[in-house]
Amino acid sequence: MAGRHFLQIPGPTPIPDRLLRAMHRASEDHRSSAFPAFARSILSRLPQVVHQTKGEHFVFPSSGTGMWEASLINTQNPGARLLAVRFGQFSHLFIQTARNLGYTVDVIETPWGDVPDPAQIEAALVADRSHEIQGVLIVHNETATGVTTDMAAVRAAIDRANHPALLYVDGVSSIASLDFQFDAWGVDCSIAGSQKGFMLPAGLGILGMSEKALERVATVTTPRSYFDLRPMRVQNAQGYFPYTPALSLLFGLDESLTMLLDEGMPNVAARHKRMGTGVRAAVSAWGLKQCAKRPEIASNSLTAVVVPEGVDAAKVIDIAFKRYDVSLGAGLSELAGKVFRIGHLGDNNALSLAGALSGVEMALLDAGIPVTLGAGVGAALHSWRVPA
Ligand SMILES: *Cc1c(COP(=O)(O)O)cnc(C)c1O
Repeated sequence: MAGRHFLQIPGPTPIPDRLLRAMHRASEDHRSSAFPAFARSILSRLPQVVHQTKGEHFVFPSSGTGMWEASLINTQNPGARLLAVRFGQFSHLFIQTARNLGYTVDVIETPWGDVPDPAQIEAALVADRSHEIQGVLIVHNETATGVTTDMAAVRAAIDRANHPALLYVDGVSSIASLDFQFDAWGVDCSIAGSQKGFMLPAGLGILGMSEKALERVATVTTPRSYFDLRPMRVQNAQGYFPYTPALSLLFGLDESLTMLLDEGMPNVAARHKRMGTGVRAAVSAWGLKQCAKRPEIASNSLTAVVVPEGVDAAKVIDIAFKRYDVSLGAGLSELAGKVFRIGHLGDNNALSLAGALSGVEMALLDAGIPVTLGAGVGAALHSWRVPA
């Protein structure tokens, strides 16, 4: 088909031409004397993306999932007890990862479409008088349902309980798109991947660690090998990696950091808020509900749209793909067939999203959902227009 394809899944996200060009390079010697300046420039700028001033950042050849594992095995002893909130497929998989690694996870079950309740976290930590719980696992932006956790409120709950557990935050679909305050939220481990807010292909796992988390790396006894931060720290200190880095992706990350930090992280977050507001206006104009239970928890990086009873969301997705060149995210696990997801994080603007929403609108009508063509797009344009 002629023209561009609209990759509106919530990751991988569209790759800007500038990043494609940055990665289109021959391989280089990752042991050369020139390499450390390059590696250091990346490792020293990553913390700025999450407003982190102490601790360190690490980059692995891995997807985001690997960073769940890396964060836990480097900071927890075998069998440690953890607390987590399950409110969608990604928080579910984070819990599964911890359990697969032999950790014990207390789970606060939360309806999908809602966000972690700070009061429940506080109660669970207060009840743990002997401080057996060693870590709290929270997904910041639940990509399965399109909701964003109020992390400042979660931090305040942990502080009110006066509990020393480490705070692990999955920011795979929020870091480099939504506001992420590593220091202010008292985050101990932040988890990200290259293919969402960083606008790159999948293949890099990005892990931020607080000083408190780093202190545990040397003392915990969980067996580790590929994701062991001990050799990583030794090599990073010299500007190298313990094994072959994913060099082309690092070329891309170097340029992605330049783009993000030149724009400024507050501006990046404001841009995503603007995009999210327009997409939600379209969904309302279609007369459809979001998976997010309340407007104030709706995510600015993606929107999960509930289709009416009797309609298969997979059909909408397939029509959008085949007839209109738009890729939408599927409903995951218990949401399969019930929702489709529109990714609006990364390299999007009002006009590219208006194009994508046009495709969604036609696919909805084709799938038998009675929308008025132009209604959703019009509502989005009203929200995006910049009157003089
Ligand atoms: C995409 C995503 C993951 C998984 O990342 P992969 O890179 O696919 O391993 C984890 N958590 C959240 C919130 C995500 O959006």
